[in-house]
Amino acid sequence: MITFSELGLDEKLVKATDALGFVNPSPIQEKAIPVLLSGTKDFIGLAQTGTGKTAAFGLPLLQLMDAKQKFPQALVVCPTRELCMQIVNDLENFKKFLPGMQVVAVYGGTSISMQVRDIRKGVQIVVATPGRLIDLIERKAVNLEEIKYVVLDEADEMLNMGFQEDIEFILKNTPNREATWLFSATMPPEIRRVSKKYMTTPFEVTVGKANTANKSIDHQYYVVAAQHRYEALKRLIDFNPGMYGIIFTRTKLDAQDIAEKLTREGYDIDALHGDLTQAQRDKVMNAFREKTLQLLIATDVAARGIDVKEITHVINYELPDDVEVYTHRSGRTGRAGSTGICMSIVHARETYKLRTIEKMVQAPFHKLEIPSGKDVCRKQFFYFMDKLLKTDISHGDYETYLPMLEEKFADVSKEEVLQRVAALEFDRFLKYYENSGDLNVREQRKDRDQRGSRDERGDRNRRGGNERGERREFNSPANTTRLFVNLGTKDGFYKASFLQFILDMSDLKKDVLGRIDMKEMNSWIEIESKAAKQMIKSIDGKNFRGRKIRMNDADSRR
Ligand code: ADP
Ligand code: MG
Repeated sequence: MITFSELGLDEKLVKATDALGFVNPSPIQEKAIPVLLSGTKDFIGLAQTGTGKTAAFGLPLLQLMDAKQKFPQALVVCPTRELCMQIVNDLENFKKFLPGMQVVAVYGGTSISMQVRDIRKGVQIVVATPGRLIDLIERKAVNLEEIKYVVLDEADEMLNMGFQEDIEFILKNTPNREATWLFSATMPPEIRRVSKKYMTTPFEVTVGKANTANKSIDHQYYVVAAQHRYEALKRLIDFNPGMYGIIFTRTKLDAQDIAEKLTREGYDIDALHGDLTQAQRDKVMNAFREKTLQLLIATDVAARGIDVKEITHVINYELPDDVEVYTHRSGRTGRAGSTGICMSIVHARETYKLRTIEKMVQAPFHKLEIPSGKDVCRKQFFYFMDKLLKTDISHGDYETYLPMLEEKFADVSKEEVLQRVAALEFDRFLKYYENSGDLNVREQRKDRDQRGSRDERGDRNRRGGNERGERREFNSPANTTRLFVNLGTKDGFYKASFLQFILDMSDLKKDVLGRIDMKEMNSWIEIESKAAKQMIKSIDGKNFRGRKIRMNDADSRR
């Protein structure tokens, strides 16, 4: 196996990788570093998350800097503040033995004057999010004249987040750029376009298959009815007592709600999403990193690029809309050679989506059953007993209490003590799971359901008189009902998330819906009359963030 110094890296940088415990370069590092060290070649590196891309560009970049020159010579652009801080943190580690080298992080949501001051102190590398960087460019607070290297990290995500124009602006404003290095997990056409426009015959390296998730991840999925998602999530957490995990939701609303609910129920969890202030985000991230927080629930944007070690589980509370997002999510676990589990809670009708993802990830997905209440209790019990047995008693002063304890427990048998300990620890679980049901969607039931709906459709078709009768029937206003609901954009919904919400709640298919008209406080939903009742029944009177939802036929009352 090749070593870091064989790649042409300076001894001081090799020393730093040693100190970090990096034994050999990862594949992307092995391929990228020798090329990048030339300093004049444009470069595209495609590799899945967790493959060590930061060092792949960070180490050569540091070697190419002139520490005696106190102005920015390199620019690293990345999508989020968290990633920005993480890259700076990694660079700090890499440059430990390089005196005079300075790196600054530049991102939004915090004092700009402080960052301006940091830049003025004389830095060689600026690591920035696009928005704040442009702010600084426009204020003329950062001099890009001498920038020789521009690194675009997580380029696909930056484009996903709508930073395309910003990136082009940045590339246009670095007139003396000698090389552009682009790193990405995937290669959508827009990146191809940007690279064509701003890069000259880039050296392209793909490690593994682009779009391929890490092989050390076990992909599991659990099929449940939409209204059982939360319950299923809880069981999965309870069934994996040592879990150190991230749960992904599609909306920040879900992230918030579930975090609140689980916290109330005694779980060690917090949410990370775009609505938090920077200080709040830092606090959550620090607690999670230090493992004082066991679970993190996050939206994709908020969690992008975060590298936390030893994450055991990633849970998709819902499958992401975009299949590529799945790769990014699952890549939070199974990092740097360790193994991880990515669990997805899916709805029976989402299995087609799962197949698409499975194909893209090129790894088999395993269908597992949501454990029963009994399974959960058993698992918790043994976990606790294991912990009890492994508890280190060599350091305390426990022996002093022994005579007292022996006296107290003189008439209690060992079996009884164990039972009492168990009761004390498991009461909560036993009570909770005492009457718990089966959350799995059984094939049999599914078949029956499908048959049922097919018959119904047949019926309708007969009446409608032709194949397309169903659609026609729905389109005619006579068969459409307009529903009023007291939820709107003020509740944090966008049309897509609202649609998802009402369909999930009512377990109905999208094609029963017609137009949806959302206002700030209320919305109107056009729905097939046949399905209207079911929707009202499953939504009206339910609670939404502490408020009662009101849903009724918009035209019949009043
Ligand atoms: P990516 O940007 O590709 O998602 P990172 O650069 O964040 O990946 O690296 C993922 C993890 O792997 C980090 O914790 C990093 O410290 C570690 N790592 C990187 N290179 C090596 C290496 N050569 N040997 C061991 N661990 C490494
Ligand atoms: Mg990275």
